Amino acid sequence: MKKSCIECNSFLPSNVFNYSLENFGVPLCRNHQNFIRNKKTTPETLKLYFALRMLGVPAELEKFDGYKTIDIAVVEAKVNIEVDGMQHKYNSRQALADLKRTYYSFKKGYITLRIPNTLINWNVNETAKYIFNFLNESEERNWEENELIQEDWNDIFDVEDLEDFEHD
Ligand SMILES: [Zn+2]
Repeated sequence: MKKSCIECNSFLPSNVFNYSLENFGVPLCRNHQNFIRNKKTTPETLKLYFALRMLGVPAELEKFDGYKTIDIAVVEAKVNIEVDGMQHKYNSRQALADLKRTYYSFKKGYITLRIPNTLINWNVNETAKYIFNFLNESEERNWEENELIQEDWNDIFDVEDLEDFEHD
């Protein structure tokens, strides 16, 4: 494992590296150990967040979107990840609130992935790997849409048309 902080990439002396592995499971500098300590995140959210960071995903922990705090957000891929405990599955009010949130995020172009705690505890690596694939697909999709807009734009205003327009 690389002896550098997964948040800021700074090199870690052996004592900091070992302490971090023992207490957090991943390499973090002293500042980022404090950063994580100050979050009110559940152990499962943290576990998934670290697994994604280890895969190089630009994930953000407890991202405030102006309305609510998202457990884990990947803004580049427009994917929000919510880590859900059992109350999300069995409480109908909570389920409806979740559905409404998913709808409002979707309207802003964000897809919400709901990951149950139990899955993270059972196999966090497999979970992170599938989310990783999902993020790659989402980024490609965003990129393809951008290219398509670009092509349409060229069809409508190509250089010759613009020149003709200027002469008139
Ligand atoms: Zn750091």
